[in-house]
Amino acid sequence: MKPSLDDLKNKEWTLFLDRDGVINKRPLNAYVTKPDDFVWEDGAVNSISRLSGIFKTIIVVTNQQGIGKGIMSQKDLNNIHLKMLNEIESAGGRIDKVYFCGDLDNRGSFFRKPAIGMGLWAKKDFPHISFRKAIMVGDTITDMLFGKHLKMITVLIDNQPFLARKYPKLVDYRFPDLKGFTQFVSSIHN
Ligand SMILES: [Mg+2]
Repeated sequence: MKPSLDDLKNKEWTLFLDRDGVINKRPLNAYVTKPDDFVWEDGAVNSISRLSGIFKTIIVVTNQQGIGKGIMSQKDLNNIHLKMLNEIESAGGRIDKVYFCGDLDNRGSFFRKPAIGMGLWAKKDFPHISFRKAIMVGDTITDMLFGKHLKMITVLIDNQPFLARKYPKLVDYRFPDLKGFTQFVSSIHN
């Protein structure tokens, strides 16, 4: 049974967002290495602006092993996130903090999703966060595992049903895009 989101009305909830494939388009077999590579998913800026009125805290958690591979620097990534945050703020939205893990996939990093390091880091910075009142939104099973390890509600962004059907215990809800998720939570919240 799907966990209920009725309690969202309390405005005490935290939203964890994956970046690539949720907020911005995921480049095929490539990395976003500079601000110009960062292309918004349709309606993402407006969605985040609406979600800012619903969630107490909004956190981005993103794996960026392009850093570990030497394809981009931490400064490049900061510039990309600066652009992202500026445009969100200009639209009246808010992201409270962006956490990234630049470690390579094969390093067994505690901070690379599906490991929970970035979630615990956020909880340390924002002690009011309760994972029992948190939603993880991402476009891969790695994101769903990260959310479930922390006992969050999980939302898969996917315009195909197959993955969600294959992993029913990992995926609580599925929407084709962040816009669809936003419409759904707005309808509960109002
Ligand atoms: Mg992603």
